[in-house]
Amino acid sequence: MDLHLSKKVIIVTGGARGIGKSIAKALFDEGAIPIIVDKSTESIKTMPDGTQPSHFLQADLTSASACKEIIDDIVDEFGRIDGIVNNAGNNDGVGLEDGSPEKFITSMTNNVGHFYYMVHYALPSLTANHGCIVNIGSKTSITGQGGTSGYVAAKGAILSLTREWAVELLPYSIRVNAVIPAEVATPLYESWLRSFPDPQEKLRQVSKKIPLENRLTKPEEIADTVLFLLSDRSSHTTGQWIFVDGGYTHLDRAIS
Ligand code: NAP
Repeated sequence: MDLHLSKKVIIVTGGARGIGKSIAKALFDEGAIPIIVDKSTESIKTMPDGTQPSHFLQADLTSASACKEIIDDIVDEFGRIDGIVNNAGNNDGVGLEDGSPEKFITSMTNNVGHFYYMVHYALPSLTANHGCIVNIGSKTSITGQGGTSGYVAAKGAILSLTREWAVELLPYSIRVNAVIPAEVATPLYESWLRSFPDPQEKLRQVSKKIPLENRLTKPEEIADTVLFLLSDRSSHTTGQWIFVDGGYTHLDRAIS
């Protein structure tokens, strides 16, 4: 199926690693122009095969002014923005008992602030091009996880903003959808596993509870759904939350 994404300029935040990297790679394979925005220079070395270094912008997205600069630079260089995949995030474990008001606000800024900043500054270009937005959520905002109030509050806000922006942007035919992963094999996930005394045993326990094939979701499986939502093959889909999680969030727990 041709997704009609050829030459589309699409920003992928946190696109140097994990899920974002798979999205950027899939976009490149479709002939689109993925613009990776990520904070780590180290990540440049691990960019998706074939993606041009000039399509990598280093920035810490927690700063609104950095987001504005990025958008301005992209519009200057490419002349347009056709889509944004708001993906960067970090399950930073700022809990109720062990956290603090300051850490909570910082976590919210790190995990949802830049979703707003990027779309806000890109809006004129998205409007001009009938662009498209995909937000990456987390099943934790549906199920809770414990010990991570900031991240879960941010991920909940991301789902609400998906609905809110879908409504506000109807007049421009800008579609806004969210993809919700649960357990995906990425560097972030691996570092979470390493926080347990026996990471392999923890992985075995989690995998057992994932109904479809008792395995983690592959980043490429998230990317495929994101690309479909970015494409005009999903031209009448907006305001939706799509779970790509092997049935983890919704299927009967008694089956695993
Ligand atoms: P990852 O492996 O840590 O990759 C995320 C990338 O985003 C990293 O390169 C990270 O840089 C970058 N990043 C984070 N915050 C940033 C910021 N403020 N400015 C610029 N770059 C930033 O994470 P992932 O597992 O692929 O997760 C991607 C998204 O999926 C996140 O929103 C996460 O919440 C969501 N998600 C993941 C899972 C899962 O199982 N993996 C489950 C549910 C939801 P650094 O490495 O330098 O921080």
